[in-house]
Amino acid sequence: MKDPKCAQCKTKPCKLPEGERPPLPPYCPIINFNEIIEEIKSEYKDPETFNFYLSSAITEKECYDREAASQGKIRPLRPRIREIAAFAEKIGAKKIGLAFCVGLSDEAARAGAILEKHGLDVVSVVCSCGAVDKTELNIPPEHKIYGSDRFEAACNPILQAELLNRAGTAFNILVGLCVGHDMLFTQWSKAPVTTLIVKDRLTGHNPVITLYTRYYKDIV
Ligand code: SF4
Repeated sequence: MKDPKCAQCKTKPCKLPEGERPPLPPYCPIINFNEIIEEIKSEYKDPETFNFYLSSAITEKECYDREAASQGKIRPLRPRIREIAAFAEKIGAKKIGLAFCVGLSDEAARAGAILEKHGLDVVSVVCSCGAVDKTELNIPPEHKIYGSDRFEAACNPILQAELLNRAGTAFNILVGLCVGHDMLFTQWSKAPVTTLIVKDRLTGHNPVITLYTRYYKDIV
């Protein structure tokens, strides 16, 4: 059985109906995982999952100008933060969580204010919450960033998730958690997690730019 490698598939025939598809590549899941494709269809029948899924589909559709879409054109209408607010309304979410990096405190405050403007109760927890020194979590002092003998508040994604779990948020939004910390948060969060800002220190939190310009080719 071949592992899927969809990122290598240039033409994406799966966008087309059967009968109009060019030949599928050998690593294509449509060839290799047909049974699972059928099985997974039933997962969407669970009422809670379906509500989430339908709300996602409508939110996606609403992101495009309808008239343009009917002419096969793409004209987006709103940024992701508005999508998140619209999605929250669709699933009936009232209280949502914001797990943010202390380095993006300003962005988190702005994001929280926008989401509150859209009627949401925003619970927010910063990564340094708890003021726990890294050594208390068994990080060797030599791995501190600013010097081994200085207090350095540990990123505490498990605490962030736990506090949001206790607040009973409908879903949680990531704002700039570090690579790895974001995974621990996601693993620990009882509520579903979406991302508003992904941390990328060198690009102003715009990682896609590293794929578009040759000036990053010897860095990546
Ligand atoms: S599912 Fe198949 S056709 Fe679609 S992108 Fe993946 S490999 Fe390509």
